Amino acid sequence: MLRTLLADITLLKVDAIVNAANNALLGGGGVDGAIHQAAGPELLAECRTLHGCNTGEAKITKGYRLEAKYVIHTVGPIWHGGNLHEAELLANCYRNVIKLAVEYKLHSVAFPAISTGVYGYPKEAATKIAVESVRNVLRELNYEIDVTFCCFSEGDLQRYRSYLTQYPF
Ligand code: ADP
Repeated sequence: MLRTLLADITLLKVDAIVNAANNALLGGGGVDGAIHQAAGPELLAECRTLHGCNTGEAKITKGYRLEAKYVIHTVGPIWHGGNLHEAELLANCYRNVIKLAVEYKLHSVAFPAISTGVYGYPKEAATKIAVESVRNVLRELNYEIDVTFCCFSEGDLQRYRSYLTQYPF
């Protein structure tokens, strides 16, 4: 099931929350900073053992002081105008997170709007990619999981809502 919610992702009680991280996986601003802040220093210690992450890929750690059991870190593309495979890389983030969730047999996962903050990806296009790539990979893998698109602004919530109702399964 796919749903959307206006919330601070660090507070969600789900099997895994997704971090919109950077290539170093050593923390940063935005949602990344908030997740590290809430999870505590043990998260950074585990991240150091991962030796970074390529754009579009995903790596999993424990959730430490979070309510979530795991954090799945993925690195979205920086928006450079659309000709540097940004759409494909953003879709890969969603696909690879879901693949890890399936591998770990998770029942619930919550995504922030990857790349749409500091990385500058246009929000409307990013919403479409988020919803479509998650739907497609779940169909391909024939797997049931509760997916929450966790919005941090009313505008994002409206965008996800209208996309989810306009294009139901
Ligand atoms: P990126 O570098 O991938 O663009 P950002 O952290 O700058 O990542 O922003 C990604 C999205 O996460 C933005 O929509 C931002 O509003 C949202 N965001 C920031 N903090 C939180 C939070 N605590 N919970 C949920 N979403 C958040």
